[in-house]
Amino acid sequence: MTSATRENRGQHASSSTDLKSVYIETFGCQMNKSDSEHMLGLLDEIGYKQTANLKGADLMILNTCAIREGAEDKVYSYLGAWRKVKEQNPSALIAVGGCVAQDAGEKLIKRAPYVDVVFGTHNLHRLPELVLQARETNQPVVETFQELPEDLPELPVVRQNDFSAWVSVIYGCDYNCTYCIVPYVRGRERSRDPKDIVREIRELADSGYKEVTLLGQNVTAYGHDLSPSMHLGTLIEMVGEIEQIKRIRFITGHPRDLKPEIIDSVARTPSACEYFHIPIQAGDDRTLRRMARGYLVDFYRKVVEQIRERIPDAAITSDLIVGFPGETQEEFLNTVRLVEEICFDACNTAAYSPRPHTPSASWPDQVPEDEKYERLRLLNTVVGEVSHRRNKRYLGKTVEVLVEGTSQRNAERLSGRTRTNKLVHFEGPASLTGELVNVSIDSANPWALRGQMQ
Ligand code: SF4
Repeated sequence: MTSATRENRGQHASSSTDLKSVYIETFGCQMNKSDSEHMLGLLDEIGYKQTANLKGADLMILNTCAIREGAEDKVYSYLGAWRKVKEQNPSALIAVGGCVAQDAGEKLIKRAPYVDVVFGTHNLHRLPELVLQARETNQPVVETFQELPEDLPELPVVRQNDFSAWVSVIYGCDYNCTYCIVPYVRGRERSRDPKDIVREIRELADSGYKEVTLLGQNVTAYGHDLSPSMHLGTLIEMVGEIEQIKRIRFITGHPRDLKPEIIDSVARTPSACEYFHIPIQAGDDRTLRRMARGYLVDFYRKVVEQIRERIPDAAITSDLIVGFPGETQEEFLNTVRLVEEICFDACNTAAYSPRPHTPSASWPDQVPEDEKYERLRLLNTVVGEVSHRRNKRYLGKTVEVLVEGTSQRNAERLSGRTRTNKLVHFEGPASLTGELVNVSIDSANPWALRGQMQ
């Protein structure tokens, strides 16, 4: 945690008597996970220490996601449960942040009047002030900004592990996909200064981190708004000079912005992982046009070809939406066929979910729910078969794995990821967590590999 920035946020110094505990629950994407780590860093400066015990927490934070219809319902069901916890511990505060809070603002307090603080995605740096205000006034505090402040404050951070770190490099998105709420709740693209990013990663390297993931809703657009402008590839090569960092990842890309020069930088930077997550969302040109994705299937094919020409063993994963308004059965089958043709290593799949403020939510030709889920079921079957085929390529091979810890299903077993982001399970002592080890692969299923440590 860097304390240098406390001064310019005019923060109160915390004393031991003030020590309090904070419980945080995070929904959604890696950006939200990274924001939660910054919330913990900010609150640590005013004496809040992270706790896993909700019932004993002085402050409960819900960091919300608005990407799917059910997201809001989930927020209010969680808040309902937390209300009961607060009834047992009346001095505890409830704070709600993230994309649902950014969109709802005051409406959230109307629906859940027992909430004490509502803050958005653009004013994280104000969280300590808002919590202290709610504590001192015993009145609900609601504050959301429409945009990020002019100068992006460098925020303190409390990271959730000590070997792999999230590093946000660009905020917001300049696209307007007709189904997506992100530009509405996360604003326009803003790249961080590369000097600040490299300094942050050098500090991480000095404290033993081996892997960094460069984050952005559209990370492949990094640097276009800087003066002079630069591209993500240059940043990857700059980070590639930091010797202790053995792995560089980046997520989430946009096919239109994944330029050949970025692929070239990944190919020539030894620590840049051979893994590309490039959402295509649909495999049909008419659907892509109506989604306003800004490219057609052929363009996407060329991007995949460029990756596989330069980095033949690269893993390519994607995101897919089925049941987009107006999608015919034949157009849906084009998506299924494209999954087989491209042979994705894995795909995140979802049924279309109408979101507030998005054009497609009010379109007349909505696909019936049961039809949507029937398509999702079929697509998931094909995605699983294709992933299994891709994973079988690793049989008999020895791969380098960054050990993430004991596997969720079996404490005797460890799990970790290859450079191509494959999940691997193998026997070994938990003391290897955070280490790079070699594992010989002897079995594969659609979701993971298994093997013996060498
Ligand atoms: S590229 Fe499209 S789907 Fe992705 S965050 Fe931007 S608007 Fe949303």
